[in-house]
Amino acid sequence: MKEQNYLDHLVGVFGQPVSENPGVVIQDAAFAAMGLERWHFLTLDVDRDKLEDALRGLKAFKMRGINCTIPHKIAVMQYLDEISESARLIGAVNTIVNENGRLFGENTDGKGFMMSLAENGVNVSGKKAVVFGAGGAARAICVEMGLAGVGALHIVNRPQDRALGDALVDILRRNTAAQVAYTDWTEPFRVPADADIVVNATSVGLYPDVNALPNIDLDSILPSMFVQDVIPNPTETALIREMRRRGVPCATGAGMLVEQAALNIEMWTGRKPDKAVMYHALEEALS
Ligand code: NDP
Repeated sequence: MKEQNYLDHLVGVFGQPVSENPGVVIQDAAFAAMGLERWHFLTLDVDRDKLEDALRGLKAFKMRGINCTIPHKIAVMQYLDEISESARLIGAVNTIVNENGRLFGENTDGKGFMMSLAENGVNVSGKKAVVFGAGGAARAICVEMGLAGVGALHIVNRPQDRALGDALVDILRRNTAAQVAYTDWTEPFRVPADADIVVNATSVGLYPDVNALPNIDLDSILPSMFVQDVIPNPTETALIREMRRRGVPCATGAGMLVEQAALNIEMWTGRKPDKAVMYHALEEALS
């Protein structure tokens, strides 16, 4: 007789607004391909002042874990039993694992970025990176590169948010060995010819503004560099299209998102998902 086991294993995302978050599409495709038919990813609209209640619910249902997105990434930290070193430096948690009622917080934004680089054969050790933006994604990316031994980090951000930039520079200088520089972004930025890695960590190019390009002198980006975009939607941004046309090695934010989701699944199930299946599901959902 077949084994009768109908126990459901729950994971998901807490956010608000969250209805357009494509996490479920990627995760469901992965679970199906892994034969994990009783694993379910729930997209849950959680009010800012109900986060603690939501975490109690998570424990009550023995949910295996949860992703947190806006506005919970920072607030959730106070309710966790343990937080990874990088998540603490980044100052935000986007993935939680429930180990028998003990909640462990991690930030996989920057880790998905690092995996995307690794998949493309890029090792940051001793390299020079230019990062556009100083928001949450930039912070996660810079901290991960710093902890992984990047040689130099040059952060470029618009001057109206100078405090954000200053805070990021301070964290990196105090906690990593990287040489850190900062430039106010007021005109088309010329990427120095000795840069190895160029990262668009701004929201420029995000749907619906799909033809927008970051204010960069594109002629200064050379085929000797590697460009990583963070924008997951569209799956190919105007920047990536332009880099491909110019023969500059590059990787998309959609790929980075899939890497991050794959990491979450591995943390929750202990198994590696099929990333090609996940990427295909994301492309289908966004087409
Ligand atoms: P934040 O709001 O925290 O930061 C946005 C950053 O973009 C800021 O530095 C902001 O600069 C900059 N920016 C916005 N508009 C412009 C512009 N017109 N010109 C120059 N700079 C601009 O957002 P996040 O860091 O959380 O997210 C940024 C992007 O990263 C989003 O598109 C998000 O979807 C994506 N992301 C992708 C992930 C993935 O796995 N692929 C993971 C996490 C995020 P300023 O300070 O001057 O406003």
